[in-house]
Amino acid sequence: MDIGRRDVLLGSAALLLAPAGSACAATERPLGYAIVGLGYYGLDVIIPQFVNCEHSRLVALVSGDRAKAQRVARAHGVPERAIYSYADFDKIRDNPEIDIVYVCLPNGMHAEYTIRAARAGKHVLCEKPMAISVAECEAMITACRKADRKLMIGYRCHFEAHNLEAMRLARSGAAGKIRYVRSEHGFVQGDPSKWRLKRALSGGGSLMDMGIYSLQAARYMTGEEPVAVTARESTDRRDPRFSEVEDMIEWTLEFPSGAIAGCQSMYSANQNHILLMGDAGRIELEPATRYDGNQMWVGKDGRERKITPPPGPAKTQFAGQLDHMAQSVMTGRQPIVSGEEGLRDMRIVEAIYRSAREGRTIKL
Ligand code: NAD
Repeated sequence: MDIGRRDVLLGSAALLLAPAGSACAATERPLGYAIVGLGYYGLDVIIPQFVNCEHSRLVALVSGDRAKAQRVARAHGVPERAIYSYADFDKIRDNPEIDIVYVCLPNGMHAEYTIRAARAGKHVLCEKPMAISVAECEAMITACRKADRKLMIGYRCHFEAHNLEAMRLARSGAAGKIRYVRSEHGFVQGDPSKWRLKRALSGGGSLMDMGIYSLQAARYMTGEEPVAVTARESTDRRDPRFSEVEDMIEWTLEFPSGAIAGCQSMYSANQNHILLMGDAGRIELEPATRYDGNQMWVGKDGRERKITPPPGPAKTQFAGQLDHMAQSVMTGRQPIVSGEEGLRDMRIVEAIYRSAREGRTIKL
């Protein structure tokens, strides 16, 4: 058990749960975000969330499509001079309104834009998965450290009320000694031309997408770091969607306490489930990690009760995430889901792929 890490996570949860605004009373203005990549997540999910934030505001856009960026800028009060292309991205250095760059690009572009943002003197919130290799993650951490900038990964479930309550209950012993975690995530992947199915941009298949939620859940539900992984993959390579990346992959994580996690991800069915079994009961979430509508049950022996968690510290998990990064910058504290947390996942991801390839257990 990585006691140091657990203490950091639990200690940070206190910061998270502190009354809104308390951690940054000294600041005069919300911090300014530049959104890089106006695709589904950046444009449809994140940008509309700034109205729910207390410490964050949208001040700049980075896009390859200027006309689209101009439309978005007009709709959200971003000045024309704060629209950047990928080619002139480094000019963000000269815009003092930009405090934080939020990288919402395909996975294979995360490292480049994180490093360029840090070199331009900006803090970085980078979408998950952090990057497509351990080497890239290490380079991102080094670049941010050298530039004395914060780096956070977009692990939004650490700000979602059901997942926060599940973590709290698991740590408080509500299910007793944790013996087993199950976590499955997937969706039906359609168009074979999508970047998610191109290895150079995605880094892999379902594991690099929804699989990150399965892996994260195993770690945050147990509060432990795995010591071994055994994985196998099942992909129909005749399916044009899966010529470059995997469809289904499952992996077993062994934890120092003896707990085991059985995790899985796939691109051929919708699934969204976390189950924690302890010797005194169970905690179950289904759906577990959606944007909204998550549900949770706690109890034992068929007497599980549906739990409505206390509201999270922010209006939405997305606002919580944006404001947590802003507060981390304001207070100088490490974000609870820092680059190091993304790197830990990527080390396990590489071991999962290696185990599936080599057909053997990999010690971590
Ligand atoms: P998307 O395809 O909808 O958007 C990608 C954006 O990157 C587009 O604006 C596209 O124009 C731009 N882009 C720039 N160069 C590109 C290139 N060479 N190829 C393809 N696109 C290019 O993807 P998305 O769903 O918004 O995903 C973006 C990131 O957000 C990914 O890392 C993904 O894992 C992450 N994501 C996270 C969540 C979450 O819940 N945390 C949800 C969805 C996506």
